[in-house]
Amino acid sequence: MAAEPDMREERLDDEDTTVDPAVEARRAAALSLLRRYGDPALRSSATPVDRFDDALQAQVAQMGKIMGDALGVGLAAPQLGLSQRLLVYRVGADAPLVALVNPELEWASDEDLEVLEEGCLSIPGVSVDVERPVHVRVRARDEQGEQRLVEASGLEARVIQHEVDHLDGVLILDRATKEGRREALRALREAQPESRAA
Ligand code: ZN
Repeated sequence: MAAEPDMREERLDDEDTTVDPAVEARRAAALSLLRRYGDPALRSSATPVDRFDDALQAQVAQMGKIMGDALGVGLAAPQLGLSQRLLVYRVGADAPLVALVNPELEWASDEDLEVLEEGCLSIPGVSVDVERPVHVRVRARDEQGEQRLVEASGLEARVIQHEVDHLDGVLILDRATKEGRREALRALREAQPESRAA
């Protein structure tokens, strides 16, 4: 594997460009706010959001900031220890920040699947091949409470599915092949030999 074990998680491309120390420091600070593999918050099913108030909007902005600092493309509330069915993503530097509240995966292209390597901000240093539908349709609300229907393909569809999984306590390791999971767990032990499950 690469000499740099700490690849950009929840970031699905692997062309790594920057080693700017300020960027790295912000990234480390953002990652320190996130729950890590082994934390029960990542394993529980989150609660639907029922208030679309200023606090929710502030939280969406905050999650967008943490995600950006972490160099991630998606973030789900349970990764911050919050039991809320809320996720944010931004696919591409110029794309808008999208918040999906109480998302329901309405349809997925079960006949059209793709295997790609995925990482997760909550499982640093690990990436596994995950097979997912290429196209999805998701019904959700935005942070203002407005209904939205998202039809997504490719990277956007993959990020949405990854984050919706977080709302259900599902992690990429659960979606990996048996060998993929075994290898990932070995990499995890080697990367964080002193870590303990919470
Ligand atoms: Zn993740």
